[in-house]
Order: sequence, then C-alpha cells, then structure tokens
Amino acid sequence: MSLRIDGRTRLAGILGYPVEHSLSPAMHNAAFLALGLNCAYVPLSVHPEQLGAAVAGLAPLGFIGANVTIPHKEAVTACLDEISAEALAIGAVNTIVIRDERLSGYNTDAVGFMAPLSDLGLRAADLHALVLGAGGAARAVVYGLARAGAAVTIVNRNPDRAASLVDVLREHLPAARLASGPLTPEGIGAVLQDVDLVVNTTALGMTPHENASPWPNGVPFPRRAVAYELIYTPAETRWLAMARSAGARTLNGLPMLVQQGAESFTLWTGQPAPVSIMLEAVSNGRRA
Ligand code: NAP
Repeated sequence: MSLRIDGRTRLAGILGYPVEHSLSPAMHNAAFLALGLNCAYVPLSVHPEQLGAAVAGLAPLGFIGANVTIPHKEAVTACLDEISAEALAIGAVNTIVIRDERLSGYNTDAVGFMAPLSDLGLRAADLHALVLGAGGAARAVVYGLARAGAAVTIVNRNPDRAASLVDVLREHLPAARLASGPLTPEGIGAVLQDVDLVVNTTALGMTPHENASPWPNGVPFPRRAVAYELIYTPAETRWLAMARSAGARTLNGLPMLVQQGAESFTLWTGQPAPVSIMLEAVSNGRRA
C-alpha cells in the first residue's frame, strides 16, 4: 500500500542542509500510512541563507509542521512565533507545529533520549550519568537527565565548553546536580566508579569513521554501567563494542531517533505514534 496524495493531503517535512540521507521521511510516511492519515512527509533541502523564507512559506503552503535538523536547529528559533520552555533550555528547535498560521517551536530530543531508559529498567532519578561531549545533542541529553533528577557529569575535549553547558542549564534547572571536566583518563577516572550510565554524544565512531572512539585508551569500561550511544550508523560503534566486551549492557541511537520522531508525530496529529512501525521503517531505511 502507498500514500494517497490528493487535493486534501497535508504536508510535513524536514528542513536541513543536507537532508538526502535523513531516515525521517521513511519513518513518518510509514506512520501516516499506518494510521490512514492523508498526510505526506518530504525532505526539504534549505540553504542557510534561505531558512527564513522557507519557514515563512510553511503556513501558506498548508504544512501541519516540520522537523528541523543540522544546521538550522538554533537559527530557526528566530523565525518562530513562540518557543517551548524545553526548546528554550536546550537552545534548539527540532520540531515546528503550525496551528492557525502560528509557528510554535519544540524540542523532542530530550524526551526521545529518555524514553528508552525505562525500557532498560533504569530510573532516571537514581542515576549518576557520565556524558561524553558538550555539543548540541549533549545539551538535550543533559537537560533530559537533569530534569528527571539524575546527577550528571559532562566531560568534553574542550572542558570550558562542558563548564559553559553546566552554567547554561543551571539557569533553567537551578536544582540540577551537574559537574564538568575534561575528556581525559583523569577526567573520566574521577567519576567512573560511581556511574550507572555513560552516554556518547560525540560523533566519534560514526560512518565513515568507524575506527574512531571517544574513550581514552587504557581506561576499562565499568561493566555495571549501561553504555548509551547516540550514533545509529553503524549499529555498533567501536566504543559500544568495547563496552559490550567489558560486560556492559549497550544501547544505540536508533530508539532515540524513533522516540523523538514519535513525539513530533503526536504534536502534529494529536494521535499516539505507531512506534514499532516507525522503528521498522528506519531499520529498513538504514539497511537500504
Ligand atoms: P556537535 O554540536 O558538533 O558536538 C560535537 C561534540 O563532539 C563536541 O562535544 C566536540 O567536542 C566533540 N568532538 C568532536 N570531535 C572530537 C574529537 N576528535 N575528540 C573528542 N571530542 C570530539 O554535534 P551534535 O549535534 O551534538 O551531534 C553529536 C552526535 O549525536 C552526532 O553523531 C549525531 O548524529 C548524534 N545525534 C543522534 C540523535 C539520535 O536521535 N540518535 C539525535 C541528535 C544527535 P569539542 O567541544 O571539544 O569540539
């Protein structure tokens, strides 16, 4: 069965540059089809100079909403009528919802990141998490963890950036238990005995650089901790394989991709997302 496209079809899409390899069109179109919704989701390759014009065109073109990806997640905030408190704290919008020609910005990455943790039987409030990296993805991850009550230590190649992330997030979550340090054997070693969860938010190890790893040589991975990798291509990075060999439970970034998409889908349609169908669509898309 394929999507019906007719005079009543409503559109959603993903604004990025580039967007050719995005798995989101396959994921959302499978969901629209499964629920019998007359909607279609299209990739929208938008040069940064054209972002304002492209976003301004969404409502007149009848879009119900859009996802936003690299490099537009921060810049798009200036093009919207309102921004959720969560997106404001994360400093980026990955979902636009359009109602009555008003454009509202949300960020579903924190919810998407947190959802798979409960499937692993982890209670966020009890966790001490070590987060590798302090970029855009880290900000959503740390916000999600800290809001749920976890203690979080952020380590980054540039430790000043990790310290700035702590400062920014404390403005939004004053009671958060946050610390920072360098991504070095010493920086990691200082907390390793206490951590229950280690998250890689750097892009090290992503295809085509499969040999790269964020983990310093000679530091054993703690087998009692869960290793959570945000990368989903390859399915198992060198770092995740190292953690698995050490006896740790592991999780890659595919469930997060699906869960952040599911949250966007519900914001647009008001309906629960068919998560297993979306997971199957991205799994097939990655193999294609
Ligand atoms: P970003 O803002 O560019 O941040 C990159 C991070 O990687 C920074 O902390 C940077 O450290 C660090 N880094 C880069 N090169 C390094 C190196 N050679 N050694 C040590 N650290 C290095 O990127 P992002 O937007 O956060 O995305 C990061 C990853 O998350 C990507 O792989 C992306 O695909 C993934 N992601 C996955 C999902 C999902 O749904 N699964 C969602 C969002 C993002 P410095 O500050 O020192 O440069």
